[in-house]
Amino acid sequence: MIKSLKILLVEDNPLNQKIVVFHLKKNHHLVQVSSTGEEALAAFEKEHFDVVLMDLMLPGMDGYETTVRMREIESEDKMRKRSLIFALTANTLDNDRERCIKQGMDEFISKPFDMNKLNHILEKSFDNE
Ligand SMILES: [Mg+2]
Repeated sequence: MIKSLKILLVEDNPLNQKIVVFHLKKNHHLVQVSSTGEEALAAFEKEHFDVVLMDLMLPGMDGYETTVRMREIESEDKMRKRSLIFALTANTLDNDRERCIKQGMDEFISKPFDMNKLNHILEKSFDNE
């Protein structure tokens, strides 16, 4: 059983937002939603999230750049606990995955969103806490 996590969902598609929020709440997580990278950065600067679920294709600042900036925010504050950032994307090419990891993401979750798959990754990540 995974503890209740604080999760920031960065996703511009309203239907995807609804689906992911529904599943996360059902699994007792606390969810905050941002529709743009800019909005997500403002939320991230204000508070710590255990996990960020990051859509890669966003209007304006994309998920890659948003991730890089989140890692910068973290590196400026040594007291801050590192968040896990998981890419959410319909692209499943190997070089996308490589780029995600290179830009500071921890995992790559392909769409359509699958809560079982996310649970599996969360169990691996938070098992010892
Ligand atoms: Mg999108």
